[in-house]
Amino acid sequence: MIVPFDKLHEECGVVAVYAHPEASKMVYLGLHALQHRGQESAGISASDGVKIRTQKHMGLVVDIFTEDVIEKLPGTQAIGHTRYSTTGDSALLNAQPIMVDCNKGQMALAHNGNLVNAAELRTRLEREGSIFQTSSDTEVIVHLIAHSKEQTLEDAITDALRRIEGAFSLVIMTNDRIFAVRDPRGFRPLSMGRMNANEILRKDAIVFASESTAFDLIGADFERDVKQGELIVVEPEGIRSRFYAPAQPMKACVFEQVYFSRPDSVVFGRSVATSRELMGRQLAREAPVDADIVVAVPDSGVPAAIGYASESGIPFRTALIRSHYVGRTFIEPEQRVRDFGVKLKLNPVRSMLEGKRVILIDDSIVRGTTSKKIVRMIRQAGAKEVHMRISCPPTIASCYYGVDTPRRKELIAANKTVEEIRNFIGADTLSYLSLEGMKIACGEGEQVSYCDACFTRNYPTDFVEIAEILPAAASND
Ligand code: SF4
Repeated sequence: MIVPFDKLHEECGVVAVYAHPEASKMVYLGLHALQHRGQESAGISASDGVKIRTQKHMGLVVDIFTEDVIEKLPGTQAIGHTRYSTTGDSALLNAQPIMVDCNKGQMALAHNGNLVNAAELRTRLEREGSIFQTSSDTEVIVHLIAHSKEQTLEDAITDALRRIEGAFSLVIMTNDRIFAVRDPRGFRPLSMGRMNANEILRKDAIVFASESTAFDLIGADFERDVKQGELIVVEPEGIRSRFYAPAQPMKACVFEQVYFSRPDSVVFGRSVATSRELMGRQLAREAPVDADIVVAVPDSGVPAAIGYASESGIPFRTALIRSHYVGRTFIEPEQRVRDFGVKLKLNPVRSMLEGKRVILIDDSIVRGTTSKKIVRMIRQAGAKEVHMRISCPPTIASCYYGVDTPRRKELIAANKTVEEIRNFIGADTLSYLSLEGMKIACGEGEQVSYCDACFTRNYPTDFVEIAEILPAAASND
């Protein structure tokens, strides 16, 4: 088994398509564009107006959805989900969309985010007789909708939405409608797009996706973001919007800009590529160093490295090459090769590094283990000095809003000073971007305001583990 890179992991991507003759194919393409948001399982539910059918499996979107599988998903509307497990284990049982037949009819639901009061709600629902099929927090939403005393499905959905707390960007489908929802703080992104009227249905197709890059692939135009606390209903009569809860202060996940989203996406109204380049420029102003070349840890460190190089005037060099063909498992030689996992994915260009003072840019350090190996690799390729620069502040706390973070005791910055981390990874110098610098680069205050809890422990919701808000040393068991 190849150990994945030492990164935080985005948990899910969602897509929905309404009024398209090849809805499930469009959702498949959208999920393919969102594959970076989760690689464990993927699923599509499609409705032909009478019945909802679902196909979900473990694995990558292209491997799961062959022509044969897509053919089993007829209809003009569909929703899809790609998953990296957060709450609940990674079994197929927890794959989404989750489909139910209840007293309010048939529906399928796909969720990006994480509920912070799921355990409490689940205990209550189980006491009242609910039988859960999965360990996923998303199923709590389904049970709340089914149990609601409201008469219509739409009212039952809004009733359920008012009871859940945390991060949720949702797409819900019935036989003839699609609902798109964002939580009142807007933690996770969700955008709406439109495709010109097709010849068969003679109306515009409406599309929702976690990131706008999904629209590009299917030829949809970005229309707007779903707003905080908003429920958009797309139905045969048209599109309606209602606010099921008053908006809270906005807490968009800043890590979407730092690392999770694709650079070709516009997220929270902002180009991710621009944010990352500005983070690199800001880092160059905050943490300059005399050096010969700027090198990125590919791929995610590249825009920040370009920004750092432009601002500092030090040339950018592609001196680390990434292999894009490494699967999840790999046969390792019996004779142990040092740093084998990292070497499989990255290889240094010796001719560019030999005798050079290198500024190495990455977007984050989580446990520090991968950074240590990369620094060693660059030194072994002949670099004279390695100055590590990180385009966000130290990650000191876990996330409860839909991102897979290690426990705090495994986060190196929760337990070591910057100098101790520098020593651990073996760099000559180490600097992080300041919190203020990161927020400025990501456009804080111009339409968007960010969650920064994994950098500050200022959690915007209740229901957070006490150990996470105490000083690290106190909980270092
Ligand atoms: Fe994003 Fe960090 Fe907030 Fe989680 S805690 S939502 S990763 S900024």
